[in-house]
Amino acid sequence: MKKYLAAAVMFAVFEAVAVTLWLVKDNVFYLFNFTYIGGCIAVGLALFAAGKRFARHFVQFAVGTYMLVYLGIISRENMQIEGFWYYLFLGVFEAATIHYAVAKIFGPLIFGRGWCGYACWTAMILDLLPYKRPNGPRKKLGFIRYITFALSLALVGGLFLAKVSDMETMMFYIFLAGNVLYYAVGIIFAFIFKDNRAFCKYFCPVSVFMKPASYLSLLRVHCDETKCVSCGKCLKVCPMNVEVNREARRRKNATECILCYECKKECPVKALK
Ligand code: SF4
Ligand code: SF4
Ligand code: SF4
Repeated sequence: MKKYLAAAVMFAVFEAVAVTLWLVKDNVFYLFNFTYIGGCIAVGLALFAAGKRFARHFVQFAVGTYMLVYLGIISRENMQIEGFWYYLFLGVFEAATIHYAVAKIFGPLIFGRGWCGYACWTAMILDLLPYKRPNGPRKKLGFIRYITFALSLALVGGLFLAKVSDMETMMFYIFLAGNVLYYAVGIIFAFIFKDNRAFCKYFCPVSVFMKPASYLSLLRVHCDETKCVSCGKCLKVCPMNVEVNREARRRKNATECILCYECKKECPVKALK
């Protein structure tokens, strides 16, 4: 049963968030929302512990489609970065601001870039493309994400300054257009760079939020360097080009790890855990 401990702990963490927000905000939606997401993650972790290869994709689709289809399209909550700016400018702690605080700003202190590995609805599609292992080292294009980050802020700030009427409807259309753009750019980048995660590495503005806290993440892949025989298998399989055969937090691309554990599966001497 010990191997299922992580699943139980993760469910308990999400349940604590669910009950706290339900009571503080007096809204039962938060109980349902975080119980569902925590439950999916816990089931995924349990499947992972049981050695099921589809475990991560199960969580990606269970959480990703819920957020995209139910929250985004049916409930019309803009859960993308523009929605975060929108609610932040309104000064309300609702929907996207809560989502960003939990999954992308403070949560990464505990589970790093777990959002990117297990819940993102953009990556759930990109991960199905043919280039699961990057074709060579990273390109020096990471600066693009800071430009898209600034553009998303400028877009929503500009709409507020222009005093656009019916901002709620506008934000819904921005959500739809933003998702079409992300999928299109993500698929085009994957084929150009022969790398499913090229969009995450170079374009996605959300990663700007997650990188600082994920540097300090409690949950991370450890490397016992005394066991490592420098075969390089972990480096070849890592979709995010993390220098995972070093233990130091300063290892190259440390803040890019999506906790997929593909590296661990490849290690012939069990140096990674
Ligand atoms: S980097 Fe962006 S697109 Fe990629 S998984 Fe993370 S949030 Fe999703
Ligand atoms: S392969 Fe290992 S180092 Fe690379 S992203 Fe996955 S868990 Fe992180
Ligand atoms: S796969 Fe294992 S032994 Fe090979 S380089 Fe990575 S950590 Fe070292």
